[in-house]
Amino acid sequence: MPQNDVVTLPPLEWRKWKPLPHWRKSHFRPLEERFWQYVQRAGANECWEWTRRCAPYGQISLGGSRGAERLYSHRASWLIHYGAIPDGKHVLHKCDNGRCVNPRHLFLGTQADNNRDRDRKGRGVKPPVLRGKDHPRQARKLTDAQVLEIRRSTEPTRILTARYGMSRSGINFIRAGTRWQHLGE
Ligand SMILES: [Zn+2]
Repeated sequence: MPQNDVVTLPPLEWRKWKPLPHWRKSHFRPLEERFWQYVQRAGANECWEWTRRCAPYGQISLGGSRGAERLYSHRASWLIHYGAIPDGKHVLHKCDNGRCVNPRHLFLGTQADNNRDRDRKGRGVKPPVLRGKDHPRQARKLTDAQVLEIRRSTEPTRILTARYGMSRSGINFIRAGTRWQHLGE
């Protein structure tokens, strides 16, 4: 390939004169500085909570670009306070608060420790999915038979709202099949 066809990227110095958009500026600030911006600091022994979305834990970008690798916020806290995390080690919470990044509440453990910890604290058990009359919002209202009656009924909505003590939208949702889908029909 002739040398002329090689596309060269602009030199890094472009950053010096071209203003960065705000979302790039934020990624070039040091990790530590960005970290503290999102932490609600409290007393030395209290939980310091991450104020951004936590599902299941807070996250922070390693920085440098928009698509940069992300890091859990409690792991970032370990990095900032104690240094590198040994390979394969997990940063665990003594306080069982996933939002917490207080370094005093963190400790290093293995995957096995993590599992033991989770089981002991009763995490990782999914609540059952409640449907139909077992659903707390529906329990007081309708039986399965009544739902089917409403679906089959050709009576005006206002008659049904009075009979079943439902709102118009409640009746309409049942008729449209949006609610009580598990009953079929
Ligand atoms: Zn804590």
